[in-house]
Amino acid sequence: MTPTTDSRTHLIPDCSARPGDDPIFALNAEAVKRAAAGESVLNATLGALMEDDGTLAVMPVVQEALSGVPFKRGAAYAPIAGESRFLAAVIRDTFGASPLAAQSVAVATPGGTGALHHAIVNLLAPGDALLTASYFWGPYKTLAQHTRRRIETHPMFDAGGHFDTGSFEEALVRQVGSQGRALVLLNTPCNNPTGYSLDERDWAGVVSAVRHATQLGPVSLLLDLAYAKFGAAGADGWVRHVQSLAGDALVLGAWTASKSFAQYGARVGALIAAHPDAEERTRLFNALSFSCRGTWSNCNHTGMLAVTELLENPALRARADGERDRLRTLLDERVAAFNTGAQAAGLRYPRYEGGFFVTVFANDPERVAAAMRDRGVFVVPINGAVRIALCSTPRKDVPRLIEALAKGLAT
Ligand code: PLP
Repeated sequence: MTPTTDSRTHLIPDCSARPGDDPIFALNAEAVKRAAAGESVLNATLGALMEDDGTLAVMPVVQEALSGVPFKRGAAYAPIAGESRFLAAVIRDTFGASPLAAQSVAVATPGGTGALHHAIVNLLAPGDALLTASYFWGPYKTLAQHTRRRIETHPMFDAGGHFDTGSFEEALVRQVGSQGRALVLLNTPCNNPTGYSLDERDWAGVVSAVRHATQLGPVSLLLDLAYAKFGAAGADGWVRHVQSLAGDALVLGAWTASKSFAQYGARVGALIAAHPDAEERTRLFNALSFSCRGTWSNCNHTGMLAVTELLENPALRARADGERDRLRTLLDERVAAFNTGAQAAGLRYPRYEGGFFVTVFANDPERVAAAMRDRGVFVVPINGAVRIALCSTPRKDVPRLIEALAKGLAT
């Protein structure tokens, strides 16, 4: 919608014609309505991991940790930048034994969304564009628009189905040349919407591209780690690659408890920034803390204290890992069933080894999604593909999903 100068609205022109409803939530609402009217509906739109019985998958140890937080501690304000034990815990959780852990500062944010917000407003000037792959999580654009920045994309896949490091390098170098700086959002492992995780070869190309661009101007590389705990074995190899960049590029991680602790509602997250220079770290921490004060002030104290225990208390951490393993198995069984069925049906989609979503390429995604809805199967049409939330698709319904996809693509 285009901005309006309509004198009947109190809203400033930029904000006077905002879309009211998130398209994914609108599709979900239709699915829920039709199911309530008695239809057999398969709702593969929403990004939360559901049990096979359709209820939200949760981790009981998280509830225990939340209720173990002394009421008067949780009820008090958290420090503006977040509890220092919490911040140290998420840095350790992200970088493990890597030297990056000792070179990091962090601030608490409401989920990964808050972390993305702070990166955008501190590392790009108004009018600048962030750079991300052509298949990206829609709110990247909302966050950029809302903060008066923009978004530019590069083609995500090359002809061989790999991450297109050539296009990435070209776009990054062009962008640093034109705006004097760049902020790259890289959502891996388990990209939303494609499910794709960068492999060793992709990472070698990304590191070399970023290194090249840093010779032209400052580059910040943000890893969106929303689904990191759901990657296939070895998906955490990214740390080894980015640590070679620290100092040349600013390495950032958007950490969140939403998926890793199945705790979407507590809004616990952090933005981590790694740099070998202590003065730069102080500047970063001060700027990010200022943004905390200037947006949400401070974050959910109870959630932050509970997640600290889940990360730092060995017994609770072991239980959390075990409960998460069960959730991973739930999802991995669906991923395996999808891969078997989709390959047999000849569907075209990127390498998919784990994660909440996968996309199947389609020439006319709107038409495919509409044809699938006629069969009671709800997926999200995006540019060049339909997005399927296997996280909310029961294992037994995967064959129905694939049949609907194959028929939808054939219409
Ligand atoms: N990044 C990606 C790619 C996501 O899909 C999501 C949530 O769906 C997020 C970040 C942020 O989620 P939250 O703010 O709940 O941590």
